[in-house]
Amino acid sequence: MTETYDVIVIGAGIAGASLAAALAGTRKVILLEREERPGMHSTGRSAAMFHLTYGGPKVQPLSAAALRLFGTLDPAFWPTPVLSPRSMIMIAGQDGAKALADNMASSSGALEPLSVSEAQALFPLLRAEAVVATAIDTSGQDIDVDALHQGYLRQFAARGGTLVCRAEVQRVTRNGENWQVDCGAQTFEAPLLVNAAGAWGDALATLAGVPAIGLAPKLRTAALIDAPEGSTRWPMMIDSLETFYVKPDAGRFILSPADETDVAPHDAAADDYALAEGAERMSRFIDWEIRRKPSAWAGLRTFSPDRVPVIGHDPGCPGFFWLVGQGGFGVQSAPGAAALAAHLIDPEVHDLPPRIEPSTYTPARFRA
Ligand SMILES: Cc1cc2nc3c(=O)[nH]c(=O)nc-3n(C[C@H](O)[C@H](O)[C@H](O)COP(=O)(O)OP(=O)(O)OC[C@H]3O[C@@H](n4cnc5c(N)ncnc54)[C@H](O)[C@@H]3O)c2cc1C
Repeated sequence: MTETYDVIVIGAGIAGASLAAALAGTRKVILLEREERPGMHSTGRSAAMFHLTYGGPKVQPLSAAALRLFGTLDPAFWPTPVLSPRSMIMIAGQDGAKALADNMASSSGALEPLSVSEAQALFPLLRAEAVVATAIDTSGQDIDVDALHQGYLRQFAARGGTLVCRAEVQRVTRNGENWQVDCGAQTFEAPLLVNAAGAWGDALATLAGVPAIGLAPKLRTAALIDAPEGSTRWPMMIDSLETFYVKPDAGRFILSPADETDVAPHDAAADDYALAEGAERMSRFIDWEIRRKPSAWAGLRTFSPDRVPVIGHDPGCPGFFWLVGQGGFGVQSAPGAAALAAHLIDPEVHDLPPRIEPSTYTPARFRA
C-alpha cells in the first residue's frame, strides 16, 4: 500500500531531523532512515564543537543564525542546555606561524592574541619550547549533539511527523506530480522530496534521476584517550596547520589527526595509521603519553565542490530539494541551515534568517 505525504525527507541525521521538525508544524511529513535508529553516521560521530568562524565566511551566516536559534530552543523538547562554553587555543610552531596569523586575520576578531605562558597556564601540558605563537577564541562552545538531535526528533513527533527507520530508499520514480519512493516492502509518495542523505546525497539523487552535485565524502578519525585529572574544563587545543586537535571530553581527551581522506560513502572505520600520525604530531606540542589503546572511531565529512553547503530546490528537477554538503560544520550550523531550507520550501510560514543570502547555497551554482 502506498502512503501519501506532503514532504518525504530522506536521512534522519541532524540535517534531516532539524528540517523535518520545522516543516511538520504545517505539513504532513515523513522522515525515512536506512539504519535501525537515527544518528548512526556523521551526526553520531562528531567532535561536538561550535566555532562561529569555522568553515569560512560563507558558512558563518548559517552558524550565526544557528547560534541565535540555539537560544530559542523550546525547553519542552530540549530540557537541558545544548551549548556549554569551551575556549579554543590555536598554537603554532615555526612552520605554522603564518597560518596562525592568517587564521587570526580571517577570524573577524574571534581569535585574539595570547602569550605562550598564558596558554600554558590554561593548558598546563603545553610544551612552551615547541610553540612560537598562540591565540585564543573564547566564544567556542561544546554541543550536546545527542540532546540537540533527539530534541528535534521529539519535536517532529509532537507535531505529528512520522519517522520510519530501517527504511532504505532503494527506488525513486515519478508518479505524475509526485515522487514515489520505494523502501523494499513500503512505498511512499509526496510532491516534495528532501535529500538529507549526507554522504549518500549524490547516490540518492542518481536514484531519482537527478544530476549529481559532485559531493566528496572525506574520512575523519577521532579517538578517546586518557586525560589528566582536572582537565575537564581546559580549552581545546588545535595547531594552526590543522594537523591535530585535542578536546577535553568528560574526563578524557578527544584526539583527532584531522585527517581528510577521500572515500566512497560507507560506514566509516577509524584509520589507525592516521591516528598514530596524529598522536605523533600531538606529542610535539603536548607533553602527554598515550598509555592505553584508545577507543577510536571515524565518520564522513561530506563537502560540495566549493566546500559550501548545498541548500535549495534543484533548478532542473521540480520537487527535489537538496540539504547536503555540511562538511565539518553540519551540527553547529544545523538550526540555521534548517531555517533557511524551511523558508525556501514554505516562505509564507518561515522567515528567512537575517543576513543569509540564499543564492550562496543554491544547487544551481553547480549546473552549467
Ligand atoms: C570525526 C568528525 C568530527 C566532526 N566534528 C564536528 C564538529 O565538531 N562540529 C560540527 O558542527 N560538525 C562536525 N562534524 C560534521 C558533522 O558531523 C556533519 O556535518 C553532520 O553530522 C552531517 O549531518 P547529516 O544529517 O547531513 O548526515 P548524517 O548524520 O550522515 O545523516 C545522513 C543519514 O542519511 C541516511 N541515508 C543515506 N542514504 C539513505 C537512503 N538511501 N535511505 C534512507 N536513509 C539514507 C544515513 O543512514 C544517515 O543516517 C564532524 C564529523 C566527523 C566525522
